Amino acid sequence: MTDILKSILSELPEKKISSANFEGANIVLYTSDTDFFLTGKPKIREIVNKIKKRIELRVDKDYLMPNEETEKTIRSTVPAEAEITNIIFENYRGVVVIEAKKPGLVIGKMGSILQEIEKKTFWTPQVQRSPAIPSKITEDIRSVLYQNNVFRRKFLDNIGKKIYKEWNPEKVDEWIRITFLGGGRQVGRSCLLLQTPFSKIILDCGIDVAAQGKERFPYLDVAEFDLSEIDAIIVSHAHLDHAGIIPYIYKMGYEGPCYMTAPTRDISSLLALDFIGVAYKKAATPLFSTTDIREMVKHSVCIGFNEVTDITPDVRLTFYNAGHCLGSAMTHLNIGNGLHNLLYTGDMKFGRTRLLDASYINFPRLETAIIEATYGGKDNILPPRQEAEAQLIKIIKDTIERKGKILIPELGLGRAQESMLIIEDAIRQGLLPEIPIYIDGMIWDINAIHTAYPEFLSANTRGMIFQDKNPFSSEIFKRVGSSAERKQVVEGGPCVVLATSGMLVGGASVEYFKEFAGNKKNAIAFVCYQGVGSLGRQVQEGVKEVKMMTEGKDELVNVNFEVHTIDGLSAHSGRNQLMAFVGKCSPRPKKVIVNHGEASRCLDLASTIYKTCRIETAAPKNLETLRIK
Ligand SMILES: [Zn+2]
Repeated sequence: MTDILKSILSELPEKKISSANFEGANIVLYTSDTDFFLTGKPKIREIVNKIKKRIELRVDKDYLMPNEETEKTIRSTVPAEAEITNIIFENYRGVVVIEAKKPGLVIGKMGSILQEIEKKTFWTPQVQRSPAIPSKITEDIRSVLYQNNVFRRKFLDNIGKKIYKEWNPEKVDEWIRITFLGGGRQVGRSCLLLQTPFSKIILDCGIDVAAQGKERFPYLDVAEFDLSEIDAIIVSHAHLDHAGIIPYIYKMGYEGPCYMTAPTRDISSLLALDFIGVAYKKAATPLFSTTDIREMVKHSVCIGFNEVTDITPDVRLTFYNAGHCLGSAMTHLNIGNGLHNLLYTGDMKFGRTRLLDASYINFPRLETAIIEATYGGKDNILPPRQEAEAQLIKIIKDTIERKGKILIPELGLGRAQESMLIIEDAIRQGLLPEIPIYIDGMIWDINAIHTAYPEFLSANTRGMIFQDKNPFSSEIFKRVGSSAERKQVVEGGPCVVLATSGMLVGGASVEYFKEFAGNKKNAIAFVCYQGVGSLGRQVQEGVKEVKMMTEGKDELVNVNFEVHTIDGLSAHSGRNQLMAFVGKCSPRPKKVIVNHGEASRCLDLASTIYKTCRIETAAPKNLETLRIK
């Protein structure tokens, strides 16, 4: 038994605890004494306050009320207005999950109803909101976790054992270094390796979908990247340039945990499945299979915002809202028990959007910040949001008035939902006529995940979902699910099409591009970043002819339609927002490292931060290592 468990048990009355184990960094004590379960909590709380670790007391599975009887008791204790939709038993953990439309009514005043359930059944109840739109992927993921509960129990226990193995910071020289394996002076394939004397951690592991060959992948073949030595992977958000390679890492034999928020787990699984589908469509061998995605899910450890969690003996992780897309997190690492505090922003938006709140800026402690620079160049001043929204609405209006069709290529995650909220609102307010808005590609599935995690959305959007006015279920949105339906859209009248992918690299948006591009009545509006080398970037830069493959044959597509770029809707911070973030960040970092931007933008942002804020900066290239302590 690890020392930490021994010392906890020594503080409790004898023979009350039948077994103790870890669920990641959390400690779970099981008792066969149901009286102690009901009365022992104050004592447990005392220990929690002393050792500052989460401890939960649950009842040993042999002493729980039988499932059927428990279900009856729950249904008779919880008021019917709560509308319970599902009750899931996790016998081996002593946990019962109650899914309801009105979770507040299941909890009761000050948790009174949950306490009553505990008292009557000895189960530990947990409450979940039933999703307004069912999400198949979220359900599939829950069932993968449920089917693998025996594996999960052992896996999470082993993580805890590794985290709490004895370490003595006074015994060794402390150092921290960070190596850029991807995302250094570029956008795409983000991957950082953090090393300390006790830990090797990967921050993000993405693919550059706009690049070719080896350039698509991070430098995973360097000597210091040995998969068997990696303790943890942290994923900032689900976009492919940050999470696209994770299933492949499991295929290569990684067996450790992957930390992320729950929406990031669900969306990155969905995007990974789509990535396989896109490879098959191009008759290429996919990089990984569904088995590897399942492994990622099995090894995932989900953490909410502002929750402090130990992940290795000397590293403590906290996720903070990044404001970039659903579930996107800034990673704060407290290294060596406060020796150094590192922030990796990932992609972030320091500004409110319709979908999300602005990124967080108040940290308990902070010495080094690694920030993104997608729009970090001095010319990348984004116009105000309202102006950008008005511009999008005007482009749609003008196109519809001349009887054209408008294509908005979207990243399935984040941007698409933002555009939907803008258009829905404009139609509701009468700024746009009631034209059909077609949604093609993965956007629809991702909408469902948004409504499954309303607590990650902005207060306004969350409120709409709670009041049964879910904007994503509005009747103005029409789902295009088959190629026959797509043909109807192409042959039909004026409309707006939102389709993935966002940079016109594969997916439905490319099909619409081929059909719409030749007619000058039509238009395309780019609302997200277009990677160097992507078709989207070429069109944006004014290419007049594009050679494309259609059913195995080369075809020349003329680009005659109107091409618009709307920068102000970006899910990234513009130059001013990046400068404001650094300026307002509390506490002020002593060093800022700039990554995730084209070379000139990274260098420009780094030198401006140095000049205006007098903070030491760096803009490392890929394969460079910086010692930060
Ligand atoms: Zn992103």
